[in-house]
Amino acid sequence: MSLQKEIDKRKTFGIISHPDAGKTTLTEKLLLFGGAIQEAGAVKSNKIKKGATSDFMEIERQRGISVATSVLAFEYKDHKINILDTPGHKDFAEDTYRTLTAVDSVIVVIDVAKGVEEQTEKLVQVCRMRNIPMLVFINKLDREGKDAFDLLDEVEQKLGLQVTPLSLPIGMGSDFQGIYNIWEKNIQLFSGDNKQKISETLKISDITDEIIDKTVGVKAAKELREEVELVVSVYPPFDREAYLAGNLQPVFFGSALNNFGVRELLDAFIEIAPKPQPKKAEERLVKPEEEQFAGFVFKIHANMDPKHRDRLAFIKIVSGTFKRNENYTLVREKKKMKFSSPNTFFADRKEVIDESFPGDIVGLHDTGNFRIGDTLTAGEDLNFKGIPSFSPEHFRYINNNDPLKAKQLAKGIDQLMDEGVAQLFTLDMNGRKIIGTVGALQYEVIQYRLEHEYGAKCTYEPLSIHKACWIEADESTEEYKEFARLKQRFMARDKYNRPVFLADSSFTITMTQEKFPNVKLHFISEYE
Ligand code: GDP
Repeated sequence: MSLQKEIDKRKTFGIISHPDAGKTTLTEKLLLFGGAIQEAGAVKSNKIKKGATSDFMEIERQRGISVATSVLAFEYKDHKINILDTPGHKDFAEDTYRTLTAVDSVIVVIDVAKGVEEQTEKLVQVCRMRNIPMLVFINKLDREGKDAFDLLDEVEQKLGLQVTPLSLPIGMGSDFQGIYNIWEKNIQLFSGDNKQKISETLKISDITDEIIDKTVGVKAAKELREEVELVVSVYPPFDREAYLAGNLQPVFFGSALNNFGVRELLDAFIEIAPKPQPKKAEERLVKPEEEQFAGFVFKIHANMDPKHRDRLAFIKIVSGTFKRNENYTLVREKKKMKFSSPNTFFADRKEVIDESFPGDIVGLHDTGNFRIGDTLTAGEDLNFKGIPSFSPEHFRYINNNDPLKAKQLAKGIDQLMDEGVAQLFTLDMNGRKIIGTVGALQYEVIQYRLEHEYGAKCTYEPLSIHKACWIEADESTEEYKEFARLKQRFMARDKYNRPVFLADSSFTITMTQEKFPNVKLHFISEYE
């Protein structure tokens, strides 16, 4: 098959949601349609149980599952679909942000009763920053929830989206009868007890068809017609270009658990979702159709077995064909590398592959060469942009607890930071090392892994820092020098030697910005 054909059949996306909205359930139903799994319950949830903060078994279990579910690929109607797993737990939000750099679109799952929740807001914000096309799936229609139009309003207001419904529920909760599919212009009837089966489709000539009254009742039919009219008058018609540009988000309703409305979502998805997209490198825009291979590392996973310190680096292929045993260049190190057993992922297994194409993810065994954000090419000097770090929420000093193991500790910290477990900052003033994380859980993961994988012991010391601010300023100006002098106790460098101001409160940030207007502070390491 030609490279172009391979590209055209691929869709690589992520599902994002607040925990418990139904991401795992939806993933599983999608895989059932693809024939990738045979039964419900086959997909493991990568959720961390509540209150599991100090349970190392739980952390290890999480790591195991997270490698198993990193990429779930399946075929459906001549398309190859790659679902990239995004952890819902907020302590792993940074992981999710990075994974979002490797998707071409997302599906946002929202619980009909809970509406827009905190984690959804944060993740959608990241997608909006990157203009990632989004589809919205409102889930759990078999339960009593919010009114469909109220929810659409909420999605627009809280998530800052412009929506257009492509389906509408008929009733809800105990009165839930089915879904009018605006996209295909038919009605899906819901039968509550037939849970794993794909439900019946009612063919209608149009929305005035009397068969609707006969099937769902006169009252429900009347309401439906009014609502359809409302949709037409209030929401913009679906426009694929606007969706692809990230300016319009189609909404579907359904119940993942009951496998209801999922096929409609999937069918619309394969029709409208983008194929693998070009990606910006610092040097130029790289297009999937280019013959030469180029890709980037968005995730690194350490081996579960502490005796083998090899890791699996996940590469998203941006252009060309990736081939086994071919020489490629790790651009940052100008190092030539060859991979004899690159992995590809399916829903239920991983396999060694000979060739992979744009949109695909390959897992490469690595002994410590790769870093998150690295570019791998067929030789060209390219550096893909856009795996930023976000300011951590928690900060602690890290101290060596075993003077004989200083080297092991340094190496361990270095590699764990390459994996993106947390961020390291070094204070300018005295060289002390600070670990910043998104959640408290990471400190335990780091301590545990340093000990078990590197034989090093560390302790932490509390530190009162509110946010890490990446500094954008002309360092030769008097203003900058004055700022740096006044704030010298809080000046640090991140792992890439970029200057960072560690602010102790939001008040400090406001005051600093007022006093030093030309010293710009960013909560994200890459800014335009
Ligand atoms: P995740 O945290 O987003 O991955 O959510 P899960 O897929 O694990 O779902 C959370 C809970 O909601 C589970 O108990 C599911 O069985 C349940 N659930 C998922 N979809 C539906 C649905 O359509 N209706 C109902 N009633 N429950 C659902």
